[in-house]
Amino acid sequence: MRLTALNNRLGDAARKLWFGFFPPVCLLCAQPAADRRLDICAGCRSDLPALGEHCQRCAEPLAQQQSLCGRCSQKLPQFEHVFAAFLYAPPLTQLVTSFKFQRRHSAGYALGQLLADATLEHYRQQPWPVPEVLIPIPLHPWRQSRRGFNQAALLACDVARQWSRNGQPLDVDQRLLRRVRRTRAQTGLTLAQRRINLRGAFRLTGKSPQRVALIDDVMTSGSTANECARLLKQAGCESVQVWVVARAARPR
Ligand SMILES: [Zn+2]
Ligand SMILES: [Zn+2]
Repeated sequence: MRLTALNNRLGDAARKLWFGFFPPVCLLCAQPAADRRLDICAGCRSDLPALGEHCQRCAEPLAQQQSLCGRCSQKLPQFEHVFAAFLYAPPLTQLVTSFKFQRRHSAGYALGQLLADATLEHYRQQPWPVPEVLIPIPLHPWRQSRRGFNQAALLACDVARQWSRNGQPLDVDQRLLRRVRRTRAQTGLTLAQRRINLRGAFRLTGKSPQRVALIDDVMTSGSTANECARLLKQAGCESVQVWVVARAARPR
């Protein structure tokens, strides 16, 4: 954690110096981006897809206004609330892909700032208790070493730093929740297959704080967050919220 904070500070200083010579261009359209914090121009920023109507519990996108989606009305998930800054649709998908799979860290930095801005705004308006600790959804060490980083951990550190700048310090805990079993990629699996795939995939290394927010880039079925929330609740957690940059429609 301390190392990440140091990297973040060095990152900020390096960005300032770099942009003194090379003004930023937009990650999406390559036009000049006036906002030095974001690398996305005002036009592309306003084109990012809003979530629209969604389930108040799991943020599943809905065609019409209703408080809960079909699945949450049948069985409530283990987490209390999902906050998704955007719908997972172009051009946001482009930013996520270039961050995760092309290792473009400026895209990750932009996503972190977008999530930080959106959560700060959301918690100014909503009654949800502010979490004490942010917990990034862990990758299995094998996958993390192949990718070179855990996108959720980088996002969590960016969000915590931005909250601290706004006078609300948040801790990031990257040790409590571990991914101990390698699982198949969830893409293409049904909901039932996803549940089976995740059995025994995570483990806690200690007691849980009272109020946490799980952090990830994209939520699709919610199965991973649900499994992590189940473990945290078992370990004494009172409230598990989930903060994601984008919510995709759930597979059937
Ligand atoms: Zn642009
Ligand atoms: Zn729901």
